[in-house]
Amino acid sequence: MRRSKAFIPTTKEAPSDATLPSHIFLSRAGFITQVAAGLYNYLPLAKRVIKKIENIINEEMTKVGAQEVELSFVTPAELWQESGRIEKFGKELLRFHDRKNNLFVLGPTHEEMMVDVVRNRVTSYKNLPLNLYQIKTKFRDEARPRFGLMRGREFIMQDAYSFHATAEDLDREFDAMEAVYKKILTRMGLDFRVVEADSGAIGGSGSKELMVLAESGEDTIAVCSKCEYGANIEAASRSKRSNIPEAPEASFNKFKTPEIKTIDELAEFFKIDPYYTVKCVAKKIIYEDASEIVLFFVRGCDNLQEVKAINATEALDIVDVTEEELKERGLVPGFIGPLDQDKAKHVIDSDLKDATNLICGANEADYHFIGVDLSVLSNAAYFADIAEVNEGDICPHCDGELSFTKGIEVGHIFKLGTTYSKALKAEFLDENGKAQPFIMGTYGMGVSRLVAAVVEQHHDENGCIWTKETAPYMVNIMISNIKDEAQVQAGEQLYKQLQDANVEVMLDDRKERFGFKMKDAELIGFPYTIVIGKELQNGHVQIFDRATKEKRDIKSEEIFDKIT
Ligand code: ATP
Ligand code: MG
Ligand code: MG
Ligand code: MG
Repeated sequence: MRRSKAFIPTTKEAPSDATLPSHIFLSRAGFITQVAAGLYNYLPLAKRVIKKIENIINEEMTKVGAQEVELSFVTPAELWQESGRIEKFGKELLRFHDRKNNLFVLGPTHEEMMVDVVRNRVTSYKNLPLNLYQIKTKFRDEARPRFGLMRGREFIMQDAYSFHATAEDLDREFDAMEAVYKKILTRMGLDFRVVEADSGAIGGSGSKELMVLAESGEDTIAVCSKCEYGANIEAASRSKRSNIPEAPEASFNKFKTPEIKTIDELAEFFKIDPYYTVKCVAKKIIYEDASEIVLFFVRGCDNLQEVKAINATEALDIVDVTEEELKERGLVPGFIGPLDQDKAKHVIDSDLKDATNLICGANEADYHFIGVDLSVLSNAAYFADIAEVNEGDICPHCDGELSFTKGIEVGHIFKLGTTYSKALKAEFLDENGKAQPFIMGTYGMGVSRLVAAVVEQHHDENGCIWTKETAPYMVNIMISNIKDEAQVQAGEQLYKQLQDANVEVMLDDRKERFGFKMKDAELIGFPYTIVIGKELQNGHVQIFDRATKEKRDIKSEEIFDKIT
């Protein structure tokens, strides 16, 4: 590609709401433009990066026998009614009617559709296992789309669904998919951790997330200093909690509830919008005698961090419970955070709807939590227990210590079991001719989020630093003085040679100042820039390595060795 012809609208200014490097640089370097909140256009450079990632995914998925399909983006609401997720998904699910007044949703994920594709088409155990995947636009009407491609409303996901006759076979595939996802991220040049995740209210047992390590990550993960163990904070807490002695008897008569075991019962009892509950793990409704308090984790709650940080004293004010009373109940106010009440209220107003009464405290077993007074809520009930795992805690699997780090969730693999196949009555005949629901796994990877994740992990103050497997172009040839005929000729010749050798190359043939072009190249982040300058007389060009910033004069013939 000739830079003089390329559509790469670079700018000096970043969008005013951009705070993350990936958002800033992808915008400034002309990869993306924003359409509306959470909606982006991918310009040529972004499109190339996306294709790179997609190719890697396709190659690795094909190796393990997964087959690519493409399902309709618009999905009939009936399927979502069948699975019961139409309510659970809540406002993230964009619904609309067609001209005949049929209700549809824009697919935020495709479990229902995929089960529908397979049911009545795969009818025998002989045709199992089956793994079908797609790379496709998804739509989730995120409450707070932000950070550019990191949390869009429209985004690209690779989503795979596997169907099995036995639980053991699902286990095998789950492990295989974990290996595939690791391979993909490794090939992309990313530093990541696979962490245990809560499997949440969707049901199922195993769940792991793939976290790209980056300071800007929205997730906190606990990692072991000695072994491979890693867990997102919720899962780490859960794992620790199972070792903690029972909480002292607390008596919150005010919060008396019947024994609630499932999300549905919970939703029913509190008359809450199940949208919120689906994101929660009712699991471990902590105090074993759940007649007292219902606590549950908030999964995927964008503002968990903020909710956690509500100042305990202020929370006490709001809820009108004195410190004494808390103590009587076996709770001590424990958690003081930097957030002011207004902000807390804002979080509550927007996220927790009618939740206004809060209680915050920590019991003697060091269960810090903050929650919402359930008895007074009409629509939402939130409890998030927090801080159960601390840095320095001993790892559950060895004597190493846990430390916290930040991660970007780029992938999520999940043993679904029969939740969807049962709900949608998708069955096969087993060896004995008996009808059985498919045992399923689901695997998702955020392709567009990965574009941002690469930049989050690989950038400096001047711009993006693409890894070799993700770079939109591997080499940028820069003719430093466009009026110098010899330089132009050498540049053109090298451009042709590299193209012939299938190296993805850009020729910066613009009549601009050298300094300007160099800044531009750094902003875009080509792994290598070859500067054709004065040293050409001596048969030398300069190679600039974007990652190391090393500049070296080399002979033109050596270029191939350097860049491959
Ligand atoms: P998050 O916790 O960040 O909201 P999620 O757990 O809701 O993500 P999944 O349902 O597990 O997401 O979807 C699979 C993958 O799709 C995620 O691991 C992530 O990489 C990607 N993804 C999810 N939501 C978005 C989004 N709004 N924008 C970009 N990528 C996303
Ligand atoms: Mg998540
Ligand atoms: Mg989400
Ligand atoms: Mg997830």
